[in-house]
Amino acid sequence: MAIDFVSRLHDAGLRVTEQRLAALAEVEKHGHISAEDLRQRVADKTGSISTQAIYDIVHTLTSVGILREIKPNGSVALYEVETGDNHHHLVCRSCQRLEVVPCAVGYVPCLQAHIDHGFDIDEAEVIYWGLCPSCRS
Ligand SMILES: [Zn+2]
Ligand SMILES: [Zn+2]
Ligand SMILES: [Zn+2]
Repeated sequence: MAIDFVSRLHDAGLRVTEQRLAALAEVEKHGHISAEDLRQRVADKTGSISTQAIYDIVHTLTSVGILREIKPNGSVALYEVETGDNHHHLVCRSCQRLEVVPCAVGYVPCLQAHIDHGFDIDEAEVIYWGLCPSCRS
């Protein structure tokens, strides 16, 4: 299922650039990728791209909701294409292996705060932490 990134950029009011499209294609292919891994993959496709340029791209695309950023504590931020499925992540404390866990509820916010202090809550971020099978043995 190919995502029409040109339309998504248009809808977000962003210019369609070769680097943005290359970055999106790589994130789609290798979900949960760090900015540095992404920079290398985009550089392989388009020539070279600076670290600053790749950070600008991922931050812009995250701020308009095209990318989703996951920030496990003590680990670098990872990026994936936002598909709206509201899945969660399972991270190994030891080796940082990451697995995807479908959301039991499926829509945000899937956790209801008992006291919302009057906020209109639109997101609950869940990361499950533990040890993966190879780190346990
Ligand atoms: Zn592990
Ligand atoms: Zn994910
Ligand atoms: Zn959930």
